[in-house]
Amino acid sequence: MTINKNKIVSVVTGGAGFLGSHLCDRLLGEGHHVVCIDNLITGDIANIAHLMGNPKFQFVNHDVTNYIFFEGHVHNVLHFASPASPIDYLKLPIQTLKVGSLGTHKALGLAKAKNARFLIASTSEVYGDPLVHPQPESYWGNVNPIGYRGVYDEAKRFSEAMTMAYHRYHGVDTRIVRIFNTYGTRMRINDGRAIPAFMSQALRGEDITVFGDGSQTRSVCYVADLIEGIYRLLESDISDPVNIGNPDEIPILQLAKEILQITGAKSKLVFKELPEDDPKVRQPDITKAKKLLGWEPKVNRLDGLKKTLEYFQKKILIPETRS
Ligand code: UDP
Repeated sequence: MTINKNKIVSVVTGGAGFLGSHLCDRLLGEGHHVVCIDNLITGDIANIAHLMGNPKFQFVNHDVTNYIFFEGHVHNVLHFASPASPIDYLKLPIQTLKVGSLGTHKALGLAKAKNARFLIASTSEVYGDPLVHPQPESYWGNVNPIGYRGVYDEAKRFSEAMTMAYHRYHGVDTRIVRIFNTYGTRMRINDGRAIPAFMSQALRGEDITVFGDGSQTRSVCYVADLIEGIYRLLESDISDPVNIGNPDEIPILQLAKEILQITGAKSKLVFKELPEDDPKVRQPDITKAKKLLGWEPKVNRLDGLKKTLEYFQKKILIPETRS
């Protein structure tokens, strides 16, 4: 791909994943040239199939824990590569740690070499099982480093530390977004997260598996809202972490019942053991994003769930060959 020097070039690692692919769409929509790097361990080429052939889009199959070579101008590096669902990081603990540590180092190295802006996809998991509720950015978190979620939580905490070190020591222009639970089209049916699990179980007439008694809460954000927040953060000059998520908090049992209701399925609710260190509550304090980015989520839960359901209905009628 030849790129004109005055064109904006954005590199998205994990660009074939759920959030990465929506980000590629958004950046292309803003007129950027987009280089999507993904090794497809949890990403899916189907998420970017519609972009293949677009002269402003390039896909590179590469594991970003290894040196990232890119010739030419780069304006933005957005590091989104990582297994991100609890069952993925249980299956891929070493890759999860490596992409958060070595991968962040390589992506920051690319940003430094190109004098590019760098944005890291961090997570509400940096707050662990929080003792402060809702969670403001100033909260340091309550993470078990040796629990099974530790591989993700600590990798992301490390990636934030590494990002701040490059910012302070090398003067790299950096952004840190702490992403709270997000759902929408292009989630993998079998990624094990609550919304795809409940929807696919309901659509297949299987039992709905609620972990624990379902009283643990999450606050769920529709993907379009999240991408808008991330884009605004990228365009801002804020180098401290910013929470992006929807404060609309709901117990998991209620979420399961709502999904049953909108699917009209007759599935039974069954209760399974709560996974280790599963946070009991989670809700973003988005005061900072509202004030500094003028951002807040717009899509209500019912509308977001219906759009997501349409996507899963199509996916389940044409079953996936992978994952
Ligand atoms: N969960 C559940 N049944 C499932 C999958 C998840 O009850 O089949 C619960 C899980 O234990 C957690 C919540 O739903 O309390 C959200 O889980 P998810 O994997 O979506 O995200 P995370 O725990 O990372 O917020």
